[in-house]
Amino acid sequence: MDVKGHLVLIVEDNEKNLKLARDLLGVTGFRTLAAGTAEEGLVLARQHRPDLVLMDVRLPGMSGVAALAALRGDPATAGLTVVAFTASVTSAEQQQMATAGFDGFLAKPISVREFPEQVRRYCQRRGA
Ligand code: MN
Repeated sequence: MDVKGHLVLIVEDNEKNLKLARDLLGVTGFRTLAAGTAEEGLVLARQHRPDLVLMDVRLPGMSGVAALAALRGDPATAGLTVVAFTASVTSAEQQQMATAGFDGFLAKPISVREFPEQVRRYCQRRGA
């Protein structure tokens, strides 16, 4: 799996979820950035233009949906691939996320076995 150089920004307020995602991506060769709030995530997204943003929807302060709108509204970050990172997986909620403009979603809890490959696929969509 060729993932060298892929930079993933994880925006997640749950420290356990964040650590697991970060560790799994780290051991499979991704580079990661982490933010515990949408506000921090927006700063990192503008600074680093990651290949993929994994955006928790339920965050303290600004929500992941509001953060997505902010990313899309800024020419510097409008083209980033942003995937909802969420425990909400009913079809109605998936539809809401698609309507909000997310490029996809990854369900929590993550699958230790499948997560790196799921992330790799989203990273490769960039520029496609
Ligand atoms: Mn959360």
